[in-house]
Amino acid sequence: MAEDCIFCKIAAGELPSEIVQEDEDTLAFMDINPWTRGHALVIPRNHSRNLYEVGENDLRNTSNAAQRLALRLRERLGCDGVNLLNACEPAAWQSVFHFHLHVIPRYDDDPLQLPVRPRQAEPDELAEVAAEIRGG
Ligand code: 5GP
Ligand code: ZN
Repeated sequence: MAEDCIFCKIAAGELPSEIVQEDEDTLAFMDINPWTRGHALVIPRNHSRNLYEVGENDLRNTSNAAQRLALRLRERLGCDGVNLLNACEPAAWQSVFHFHLHVIPRYDDDPLQLPVRPRQAEPDELAEVAAEIRGG
């Protein structure tokens, strides 16, 4: 457990939360500022800062728990879809530094909109960045 980590405190039962699913390795609870009805967060019980640092077992267990929760949200809330979202570092909107997945139920008539306008890239641009990522 990391000191001053609110999600560690939630996992330890030291801070209140609305838990909706749990097992030995993971916990899922309602996001305090939901984007839609039923927006939940899934965390590994072990502390890690984010996607860069989470251990592979915790990542696997948390991903599997997120899938179980998505199925539960479809069954119980009748959502029409789900967004699975992770924020890694402030540049990517991370605000709580304990690895977590957002499981956001979506409804055909909900007001959420894509925060970006995708733009088609030129093949040269894709090739250049792909080469940089591949390295060598
Ligand atoms: P991030 O911005 O790091 O991807 O997501 C952090 C999420 O945690 C936010 O959606 C925020 O609403 C939620 N959150 C922050 N503090 C608390 C809290 O004390 N309890 C709960 N249940 N959620 C929280
Ligand atoms: Zn933590």
